[in-house]
Amino acid sequence: MRTDDRMLVSIVVPCYNEEAVLAELHGRLISMLEGVETVSFEIIYTDDGSRDRTPEILRGLQAADNRVRVVSLSRNFGHQVAVTAGLEHTSGDAVVIIDADLQDPPEVIPEMIARWQDGYQVVYGLRAKREGETTFKLWTAKAFYRLINRVSEVEIPIDVGDFRLIDRRVVDVLLAMPERDRFLRGMISWVGFKQVAVIYDRAARHAGETKYSLIKMLRFAVDSVISFSFAPLRLAIWVGFAAIAAAVVGIVYALVIRFYTTTWVRGWASIFTAVLFLGGIQLITLGIVGEYVGRIYAEVKLRPLYVVGERLGFDEPKQTPDASTEVE
Ligand code: UDP
Ligand code: MG
Repeated sequence: MRTDDRMLVSIVVPCYNEEAVLAELHGRLISMLEGVETVSFEIIYTDDGSRDRTPEILRGLQAADNRVRVVSLSRNFGHQVAVTAGLEHTSGDAVVIIDADLQDPPEVIPEMIARWQDGYQVVYGLRAKREGETTFKLWTAKAFYRLINRVSEVEIPIDVGDFRLIDRRVVDVLLAMPERDRFLRGMISWVGFKQVAVIYDRAARHAGETKYSLIKMLRFAVDSVISFSFAPLRLAIWVGFAAIAAAVVGIVYALVIRFYTTTWVRGWASIFTAVLFLGGIQLITLGIVGEYVGRIYAEVKLRPLYVVGERLGFDEPKQTPDASTEVE
């Protein structure tokens, strides 16, 4: 929806139970965006099935300002899918993805826009400092980045979240990637194009608490490793080889005992341990293969990635038959 001939920048904000921060976030976004004279903007809030007052607040923001649009998902689909739903509803020449909790300061966006106007297609926010995060979170985040870069085929920048600006061309490629395990950071690295970092200090959450429980974080880590590498499958093969090597040693030992000693009947213990050991390895391997097979199953079902409950502020209902389904 263009109101003038300036470039349009869309801001995508995934929101899950963010009633405590929305007013502050919106105020800061608007005052920052109005200061950038070279572009016009729209803000797309995705309500990811919030159970607090988030939907009402978003409705109010939308009613007060026609540059605001709201996509409400029919239930909680998770952060990465909420961002994808937002992306699908943008019409800007560039899109900025930002968390609702003000950990990603909106004041960095003008710099991102400037770099984009310099000709970069991806401008990602690089966290110089992370305030207000527990040591546990910092430590797990570090381990996660180390692991993912070790095993995955594409280089994923360290200390970079989803806070970034991406050009329309990149958005279109992302939306054409139909995979269900969406690890946007990895996907954006995979897309390529000219990418550059903008450094900022990651603030503490403005209010409310993290929506990523330990379980969600683990699931996110597993998703990103499995959808970006075959390393776990390879690991299974290596563990298998190691087991065979151990078994060969065991066999030689058994034969020596059998032919050169008189106490060989007592060997049941070694058989018992070998059976257990190999059984364990086979189960692990099956489990790893099962993870991939399960994902193939989820992909071939071709279910929509998310279901939209309601759209506010869009001219006509958006037609996205292959990725979302309208439920009225
Ligand atoms: N979020 C979401 N759906 C979820 C979990 C989180 O849309 O199921 C949103 C949340 O509202 C926030 C962003 O994703 O805007 C990042 O979440 P959070 O700040 O809780 O994660 P953290 O910064 O602790 O990793
Ligand atoms: Mg946060």
